[in-house]
Amino acid sequence: MNSAKQDVEVRSVPRAEGTGGTPALKTDKKAERMPLIAGVLDHGGPGYVQFAITNICNAKCEFCSFAAGRFAPKQRRSVTLEEACEAIDICANNRIGYLLFVGGEPMVHKDLLAMVAHTAKRRLRPMICTNGSLWNETNIKQYTAAGLSSVIMSIDAPDAAIHEKHRGLPGVCVKIKRANELFSELGVETIASVTMSRLVGDYGRLPGFLRELGFSRCTFSYPLTTLGSSYLSYSSSTLVEYTDEELINAFEEVKKLKRARKITIINPTESLSEMQRHIRGQKERFGCLGGYKYFYLDWNLDLYRCHYWEKPMCHIRDFSSDKLVRDGCTRCMIDCYRDPSVLQFIAVNASDAWNHLKHGHVLKAMRHVFDPRNLISLRSVWENRGWIGGV
Ligand code: SF4
Ligand code: SF4
Repeated sequence: MNSAKQDVEVRSVPRAEGTGGTPALKTDKKAERMPLIAGVLDHGGPGYVQFAITNICNAKCEFCSFAAGRFAPKQRRSVTLEEACEAIDICANNRIGYLLFVGGEPMVHKDLLAMVAHTAKRRLRPMICTNGSLWNETNIKQYTAAGLSSVIMSIDAPDAAIHEKHRGLPGVCVKIKRANELFSELGVETIASVTMSRLVGDYGRLPGFLRELGFSRCTFSYPLTTLGSSYLSYSSSTLVEYTDEELINAFEEVKKLKRARKITIINPTESLSEMQRHIRGQKERFGCLGGYKYFYLDWNLDLYRCHYWEKPMCHIRDFSSDKLVRDGCTRCMIDCYRDPSVLQFIAVNASDAWNHLKHGHVLKAMRHVFDPRNLISLRSVWENRGWIGGV
């Protein structure tokens, strides 16, 4: 998946193992909310990890260096189930609330189902970001029963033929459509992830095509031509190379699409504007929470603050609060980190205010309370209230 998205919230709750795809367990919403509110005040709410469990992929996307045949077979790596479970346990002990399985293509990993089940058992919300080519009725029911919270599936163009040709996956759109139907019946949220590339062409055609495939929500991945970490979902392809002006206009197109409401666009408007400020070299308003709330974990179990960062923070076994970084970084424009940083700003700022108050630092607390960005963040949350159901 290109620049996989994780800023999704999940409206379903973890399901009991072995329930055979039955509807979500009934939970006491009030009881769920109390620890969440306490967590927001204490530390700004749950974080997420994007866990790349393998660098192998069955697709051939031109704008991605994970593409099949792009690297030597001896460079292929996957985590073992045992390693993954240990990593999930460590995440659970480090205030991670959401785990997004990515690849390569995560569904080529034979133990993904067991990893999803273990994640749900540890009361983290498991999500999968996939090209959708490996879904079938049986595994959709199995993943749902194992506690899968939501699914992100990539779409490259408002046209099945262009999408399938670019992915090298003939017939994948039919599979995606069927998967959307089944997940909808089973109460699992699905979201289309569209990379802003030249394959999109006319943005106005996207809502109709996405709806035809059964999506009601869509998130845009901002184009990437370079990353410093081990993550390879980028390339120097002309499909994702834009002049500054072209890119600013592309963001304007996404904003227009969002206003038109023919399909729900998840990227906050403020984040789209923030990326336009980034391209223009203007001062950005929201420092990124990559390395503080959001992380990238690779198949070697090296934990990075994000896909962009050159060096890992530590091995997952050494993950602890003293490794966290919060420096207001604005180095890149990866949607997976920049979008949620706008949304979660209000929660992190509330936590800052609360912790200052607890220590008697009233003036410092007030500075956080009256930070004008709180309103912007709150507006972004409100804008996305339809899908930020569970938080
Ligand atoms: S974008 Fe996703 S599906 Fe395409 S080659 Fe990269 S990892 Fe595979
Ligand atoms: S702005 Fe980019 S480089 Fe900086 S922490 Fe966020 S994702 Fe990483």
